[in-house]
Amino acid sequence: MYNRRKGRRSHPFTVSRLQALRLCPYRYHLQYELGIRVGGRASRQGIALHAAVAGFLLRWGKTTMETEVARAVAQKPIDARDRARVLELAKGFQALMAPRIKQVLAVEKPITVAIEHIAVVGRVDTVVETDRGLELWDLKTARRRGYLDAFPLGIYALGVKGMLGRVPDRWAYINLGQGNAEVYMGGEEMAAGVIDEARQTARRLLLIAPQHPNPGAWCRSCPYRRWCPVTHPQPEPLPTHQPWLWSGLTTNKGGDHGQKGGNSGAETTREMVSLGSLET
Ligand code: SF4
Repeated sequence: MYNRRKGRRSHPFTVSRLQALRLCPYRYHLQYELGIRVGGRASRQGIALHAAVAGFLLRWGKTTMETEVARAVAQKPIDARDRARVLELAKGFQALMAPRIKQVLAVEKPITVAIEHIAVVGRVDTVVETDRGLELWDLKTARRRGYLDAFPLGIYALGVKGMLGRVPDRWAYINLGQGNAEVYMGGEEMAAGVIDEARQTARRLLLIAPQHPNPGAWCRSCPYRRWCPVTHPQPEPLPTHQPWLWSGLTTNKGGDHGQKGGNSGAETTREMVSLGSLET
């Protein structure tokens, strides 16, 4: 039988993993405990876009976006049409976001945040100083909007505090592929709320109990729907033969972590803005 404690020791506990556990323990179980992998690889276009923008910020003031797109494409080749699209999106970021930057303080920096008995690891995409203060940017490349909330950004913000001594004033997903940003008010108070929620989430790991589905707004972009009794009354069998998984499943509607993930304090301070409207 799977040894949850052993699993916890042998894998780094990433921010994504903590978020999965927080939103839906059943998805967490399928993805991280059973190791069921779904979905295709991230598109090459998205990888190149992320790499080009990160390189542009890493070599801030010493490079051009054209150079960084060429560098990214040399690492992982894409066809001419995709390359033109990557350059177009990357230059859109440059035109709208670069003027806001007073200083680039961190790019792709690893962080570790201690939460209860676990060490959560991740990589902060970007921290910049702007006229509005210290900003944490997480770069997303998806063309369609999936479920996002402030919790992962809050964990990264705690990592930034460990790195720079300050919690960023604003936390944002920069949706490069969609030309918009989802911005949250940050600061110490918000970070304290994230720590509380992270602690509650981490404590669930100590419970040896069935991992129930926890439906919510995040189900729309969940790649595990086909195996989920909430979205499919007759779910597909799991890829491996583990029938014991299906015994006694119930839905945790409104349970101890029912809709909490979607209604965290962070949610109430979210604003959705186009990249252009972020200009100062
Ligand atoms: S569809 Fe929703 S309830 Fe089902 S596994 Fe995915 S996140 Fe959980």
